Amino acid sequence: MNPQVLVVEDEDALATLLQYNLEKEGYSVAVARDGEEALIQAEESTPDLVLVDWMLPKVSGIEVCRRLRGRQETANVPIIMLTARGEETDRVRGLDTGADDYVVKPFSMTELFARIRAVLRRIRPGLAGDVIEAGDISMDRVAHRVRRADREIHLGPTEFRLLDYLMQHPGRVFSREQLLDAVWGSDVYVEARTVDVHVGRLRKALNNKQERDPIRTVRSAGYAFDVNA
Ligand code: CA
Repeated sequence: MNPQVLVVEDEDALATLLQYNLEKEGYSVAVARDGEEALIQAEESTPDLVLVDWMLPKVSGIEVCRRLRGRQETANVPIIMLTARGEETDRVRGLDTGADDYVVKPFSMTELFARIRAVLRRIRPGLAGDVIEAGDISMDRVAHRVRRADREIHLGPTEFRLLDYLMQHPGRVFSREQLLDAVWGSDVYVEARTVDVHVGRLRKALNNKQERDPIRTVRSAGYAFDVNA
């Protein structure tokens, strides 16, 4: 599961350059050429990060931010605004746009990637690196190892993907259908209660008697991973 970046940029050369460099860094990239297209794309598939140009045809970058913030699915998606020098920089600096950070053009890729990593580390810790930690649980996504306190936790592949997904979105409640789409894939037919079975196995593997269960069952809604486990 590579982090998905939505690039919203109407300058072809810059859009292509961003896509090329982001893909090289292991991100999966979608490009929208204007604000309207960006909103449609974000609705079809929720991105993990949005890079949005301030000056866009049709719907401006600020309006894109506002509307993304206004929708439940994208309310917490990290957004980095791209601006040209002098382009209402004061307002951008105030970040009353809803963006999490901004980068002034022309910028180097090194600078942009440093900002991207900083924003992801702050907002979506799971996407910033190979090891995710929450409380006394740590997951090494490259070595496929999970530890809690001092012991190794052995998980089946589905439980591993489930925990990975939940830890990447701490505090967020997912319905069984959303978890099926994210962990099993939307083209696989599995009954919703299969999720309960795997959550049960995951809990059994993770929790010793005296330990707090990090997975919260939300009645009639689904499951969430609590960051303060
Ligand atoms: Ca532009």
